[in-house]
Amino acid sequence: MKYDYVVIGGGVSGITTALILAKHGCRTALVERSKRVAPTVRGFTRRGLFFDTGFHYTGALGVGEPLDIFFRYLGLSDGIETYPFKKEGFDIMCCLDPSFEFHQPYGYESLAGAFHNTFPGDKEAVDDYLGTVRKIYCSLPYVNLDGQAGPEAFSSVHGPSLEEFLGRLTGNSILKCVLSMHCFLYGVSPGETLFAHHACIAGSYYESASGIKGGGQSLAKAFEDALEKAGVSIYCGQGAKNILAAPGGAVNGVALNDGTTLECGGCVSTVHPHMLLEMVPDKLLRPAYVKRLQDLEDTSSACILFAECTRPVERLQGSNLFIFPRPDFSFFHNDLPVEERPLYITAARGSNGSGKHGFIAICPMSNAKTQRWADSVTGRRPVDYKIFKNEMTEKICSHIEASCPEIAGTITAVECATPLTLRDYTGSPYGSIYGVKHRTGQYNPMPVTRLKGLYLAGQAVTAPGIMGAVMSGFIVCENIFGREHLREELKECRPQG
Ligand SMILES: Cc1cc2nc3c(=O)[nH]c(=O)nc-3n(C[C@H](O)[C@H](O)[C@H](O)COP(=O)(O)OP(=O)(O)OC[C@H]3O[C@@H](n4cnc5c(N)ncnc54)[C@H](O)[C@@H]3O)c2cc1C
Repeated sequence: MKYDYVVIGGGVSGITTALILAKHGCRTALVERSKRVAPTVRGFTRRGLFFDTGFHYTGALGVGEPLDIFFRYLGLSDGIETYPFKKEGFDIMCCLDPSFEFHQPYGYESLAGAFHNTFPGDKEAVDDYLGTVRKIYCSLPYVNLDGQAGPEAFSSVHGPSLEEFLGRLTGNSILKCVLSMHCFLYGVSPGETLFAHHACIAGSYYESASGIKGGGQSLAKAFEDALEKAGVSIYCGQGAKNILAAPGGAVNGVALNDGTTLECGGCVSTVHPHMLLEMVPDKLLRPAYVKRLQDLEDTSSACILFAECTRPVERLQGSNLFIFPRPDFSFFHNDLPVEERPLYITAARGSNGSGKHGFIAICPMSNAKTQRWADSVTGRRPVDYKIFKNEMTEKICSHIEASCPEIAGTITAVECATPLTLRDYTGSPYGSIYGVKHRTGQYNPMPVTRLKGLYLAGQAVTAPGIMGAVMSGFIVCENIFGREHLREELKECRPQG
């Protein structure tokens, strides 16, 4: 059978793209190298306790908000049940020295109120910051369905960095760090990230913060059901090897690693751009474009601890904890000793009802730390890698126990994922948390390429996060069906009342 489109990569962006194409009557195939689709967000269970991996919480999923409308459009809403994070403090920003804690609410009024109370000398700076974030976020093409879409904040590479923008507003270093901690949600330091990009992502969390009952596992199941219902052909367990093109240069097929060829009229790749380069025939992409893709830098990788403990962690009930050692931006560098790095800690929420308790802690780390074992495979890594992993586990546990006294002495079991684990489970070449960076001066690829019939989507193209990945599916498909058409269809999916 000849497909209209083959989508490469069965992550959130690939699934979204495949669903939109199928909804428009296109014969669509989705190719995913892992055994099942959505490996990044699927999570895993250990000793009866479920741990999330690529999805803990998201912005914009409140009723009638953009991600909620996207999910309704994609047919996911019946399969998932959302829950709100604590409105008066969905994220707790915690500085260790000097000791300081800020419970960040969502909703602009509450946000402004909390910032004004805590930083009374910086009211103007706070208002300026929040007003600008809101304006940029609301100008995104699918956020404000009634208004005109503004300039493409996602594709711009010019403008002030977050650090520069905050530096112009205030000299208060704690406030600047608190406002920058959401860098964790896209993996780029305040000095490198464009303020506009920060606004697009942080702005969605300022509207609301939600989780999904059952975590990423439920999201993955809802995606699988929607794909089946939409009639998308799924090829899992073998990667795409080559994108094939006719002599004239238009895409006409995708060859899989097992030798199968899927004939098609077009292809949407959602994989890391470096992996795309390995699939496209030589000379079909211009050398300058190839160089541009080769030069793209990745976001940081991480060591992630999945811990079981004897009791729930009080501060993680409805909130996430962001820990930063000092009120300066130096802690965003990965070469620091573990105890000086920032931490993101969230509850293992899938444990509801099981009587078990746990948490997940993400500590940024360069993938260079595990590079010398890059050729080894899971389950058969050498002894010195295991020693490294044990050392990291101990150091991060000590850092967590020193930073969060309520956790000290409660951990009963712990597993650690290194940059290599991340690489192998997310199918990304370097194990970076969010794939390619979006940073000042770096030109990330656009959805349309010069190779006829080849389109690109995914976190490298639009933005990371569930919202960014879903939106990338819409942004690539607007090049096929038209933006206004998709916006009109989305309007039909808004909840009544
Ligand atoms: C530890 C962690 C925590 C996170 N927490 C959150 C969170 O709380 N909230 C949030 O919104 N976001 C979070 N994210 C980010 C979010 O998960 C990602 O931004 C999003 O899932 C990216 O989706 P994607 O489809 O663009 O990329 P991917 O999920 O990377 O999808 C690409 C897919 O392509 C597949 N692939 C690779 N090569 C091939 C090939 N040759 N052939 C076929 N398939 C191939 C890969 O296996 C992969 O499934 C987190 C990410 C990580 C890693």
